[in-house]
Amino acid sequence: MHEFTYEALPMRVVFGPVSGVGAEVAALGLKRVLVVCGPGHAALGREVADRLGAELFAEARMHVPVELADRASELAVATGADGCVTVGGGSAIGLGKAIALRHGLPIIAVPTTYAGSEMTPVWGLTENGVKRTGRDRRVLPRSVLYDATLTVSLPPKLSLTSGVNAMAHAVEALYAPDLTPLIALQAEEGVRALAAALPRVVADGADLEARSDAQYGAWLCGTCLAACTMGLHHKLCHTLGGTLDLPHADTHTVVLPYVLAFNTAFTTASAALGRALGTDDPVGALWRLGGQGSLRELGMRAEDIDRIADLVVASSYANPRPATRDDLAALLRAAWQGDRP
Ligand code: NAD
Repeated sequence: MHEFTYEALPMRVVFGPVSGVGAEVAALGLKRVLVVCGPGHAALGREVADRLGAELFAEARMHVPVELADRASELAVATGADGCVTVGGGSAIGLGKAIALRHGLPIIAVPTTYAGSEMTPVWGLTENGVKRTGRDRRVLPRSVLYDATLTVSLPPKLSLTSGVNAMAHAVEALYAPDLTPLIALQAEEGVRALAAALPRVVADGADLEARSDAQYGAWLCGTCLAACTMGLHHKLCHTLGGTLDLPHADTHTVVLPYVLAFNTAFTTASAALGRALGTDDPVGALWRLGGQGSLRELGMRAEDIDRIADLVVASSYANPRPATRDDLAALLRAAWQGDRP
């Protein structure tokens, strides 16, 4: 007998040109939106703001510092905004979510990476160096507009690591305690789409078909992040990023094969991943796809291995295989050295 609870999240998803953003604003009945983006997207943000006759806040930064959320929220209130359009990756979407959390403004997300925040009701805010996260339906974007042309400028390395970051959501969903049949299908298809698209994207960043396939995979993997409880991989990456300030997508890319290898014998996820990746060695396939980097190359010091293992063992998370402190230290050491998992 099946036994599960599936909750659909209400949102429009549109694959089409960014010029359609006005139609999304109209579909939600919004009159006066605020556009937010990072400094790297100031020109695109300005173009979107001009198209909508909107104000622009172009200062989004990684991990949403609370002072930044304060200033963006003040601008939203001062301009009488009734909605927010985010243009950019997880950092811009995160800032939009911070505004939504305070003022309930609906978000239209125009993603430019594959990280998947646009599909989730998860927010994050950083204050005094400590990042808090939570779930709230108010921050779930009401509309998401995927335009592959906006991802052409994403450099090859970041395209790859951002895509593997997305795949990590699907991998962990496949062994999550709250996995449902619909999400299992989406996870497998998301991994398949990204694994097929990413080598083409890296070979030719202007290949719009490959870029669109990667966005399709990122969308599906983002739904997995929203629907399922993430496990050891996300706990490790969150701790590495928050404590050592390691780069988000690169950290996911290095760590994922090691966690999958650790969990493999304890889950049935490998069968789905094997189908998605076309191999009976999903760990090896992920390791080769991700470029075989190491935590050492990302700037982690050897003495931080024990510190991170201590922090992770002291926190709670769902994982098919319980990990002792020694297990965690061994996994981190292998990932630090870049040994074949
Ligand atoms: P990002 O938004 O921080 O972007 C990374 C860098 O890439 C930035 O310098 C940005 O300017 C640049 N960039 C983005 N798109 C580009 C493009 N198309 N062309 C050229 N440059 C581009 O990175 P991210 O990985 O998308 O997001 C990471 C952040 O999102 C982290 O803070 C992470 O915690 C958060 N996140 C949250 C969720 C969630 O569900 N709440 C999910 C995933 C990530």
